[in-house]
Amino acid sequence: MSNESNLGWLSDKGYELSTHEKQAEFARKRCYCHTCRPIDYKDPDSVYMRLCPICGNKRCPKATDHRLECTNSNEAGQEGSIY
Ligand SMILES: [Zn+2]
Ligand SMILES: [Zn+2]
Repeated sequence: MSNESNLGWLSDKGYELSTHEKQAEFARKRCYCHTCRPIDYKDPDSVYMRLCPICGNKRCPKATDHRLECTNSNEAGQEGSIY
């Protein structure tokens, strides 16, 4: 396993991706929640604050994982949020 951060985002499977995989890949690249793009201190581009795309709160669970519901709240300790 190499840890070349530049390649981390791209498929390294070495074969043509199916349309479904391409869509999933596309969604991952566009999504900046912590689940899709964990902070990696070797990759400076990944180290920044994640905000919920809907309410803009960093403590909204959706900022941690896009699969969680937006709570429209910046309350600390919300279920699912890493903050
Ligand atoms: Zn996501
Ligand atoms: Zn939200």
